Amino acid sequence: MNAVVVGGGITGLFTAYYLAREGVKVTIVEQGKPAQWSKAAAGVLEFNRYKINRINVKGYAGTYLKMLRQGKARIKTWDWKWLIAYVKNYGREPPSEIWEELRRMGEFSRREYRRLAEEKNDFDYSEEPLCELGVDVEREIEEAKRDPLGPRLEEGQCMGQRALLYLDAAKIATELLADRMTRELADAKFVEARAVEVAGREVRLEGGGKVEGDVVVVAAGWWARKLGLPVAPLKGYGFRTNAKASATVANWALGIFVVPLSRWTKITGRFDLDGTEDHKPAEKVLNAARGWLGSFDVIDMAVGYRPCTPDGFPIVDVLGGVVVATGACRLGWTFAPALGKKAADLALGREKPGALSAARLR
Ligand SMILES: Cc1cc2nc3c(=O)[nH]c(=O)nc-3n(C[C@H](O)[C@H](O)[C@H](O)COP(=O)(O)OP(=O)(O)OC[C@H]3O[C@@H](n4cnc5c(N)ncnc54)[C@H](O)[C@@H]3O)c2cc1C
Repeated sequence: MNAVVVGGGITGLFTAYYLAREGVKVTIVEQGKPAQWSKAAAGVLEFNRYKINRINVKGYAGTYLKMLRQGKARIKTWDWKWLIAYVKNYGREPPSEIWEELRRMGEFSRREYRRLAEEKNDFDYSEEPLCELGVDVEREIEEAKRDPLGPRLEEGQCMGQRALLYLDAAKIATELLADRMTRELADAKFVEARAVEVAGREVRLEGGGKVEGDVVVVAAGWWARKLGLPVAPLKGYGFRTNAKASATVANWALGIFVVPLSRWTKITGRFDLDGTEDHKPAEKVLNAARGWLGSFDVIDMAVGYRPCTPDGFPIVDVLGGVVVATGACRLGWTFAPALGKKAADLALGREKPGALSAARLR
């Protein structure tokens, strides 16, 4: 069997990995370098805490409007289809099957990260609490008691401040895991080209070429819009730095994540509805971080586009014979093993689309 995976982000790499393990010959069509967008991420894994992705709960739109007014976010890319679906889904609780599915996917992903790290921890995998600053600690702990995924939260101290500790978190170096997955895919073929259209088993490339397979999987982040799906690009920036930090922190007051790793400290921020090539707001992330942590040098910067659906839940489905896996929004690394496995199982015909099918958004 031959499969073509469009998009070599973290979802595409895990999809290709599980297909290759089943003896499938995989071709990955990636417009740039593997994980070029995905690796902007902080690399915090929240296997049983979904709150960060609940962009359609009551109050979120108000918070985002406030961020827009304060210059902490901006909107550059407008999509009516997405917005209409967002309004329709605003405040709507998902059915219990979605929570059940996410619980299984979180557990699967954690098991897979542990297995990969036991084989060789060449990507800085470490299970340690995430400190959240700038949140209402009591309210978060109260809310967690009703959370269907049952995250363990407690009050604590981080970098001299009172904090909320999420005890079930883990972290990775995204750049190192992207390298590891690329090494795992030594037998796969990488085609550096931009897909412009997918028709059944055929992927048409910019400039005129095409690639064919027995099955095509689209795991190209927000480019899944091309298949008519409401997926928006929530842009953010990730910096590798030599900043000093003693804990993994989500500083919600500043809108940044700080993740100390063995060889660098990752700093990320911004949640802009913005699919453009204008990256000026990146500077604001650095300014916020330097105002808090003091001066540091930047090793490099990556730009990423979190693929967000209007209800904040991923899509894994088969549309017109094409498998699609996208929409993990702010938790794409956390759920990539499970999303990739589901996409691979759909491509192999072993599973049928379930709770995360796109039908819920139509
Ligand atoms: C600043 C920031 C911080 C984040 N922090 C975290 C975190 O701590 N934890 C977490 O779990 N998640 C985090 N995320 C979210 C996570 O990075 C995304 O959910 C994840 O990258 C989605 O992966 P993906 O492979 O589905 O899509 P993408 O990362 O968008 O990758 C899509 C890939 O497809 C390629 N592509 C697109 N169109 C085409 C085309 N037409 N032809 C060929 N190739 C194409 C792109 O070049 C890209 O490589 C963060 C994201 C950002 C931006």
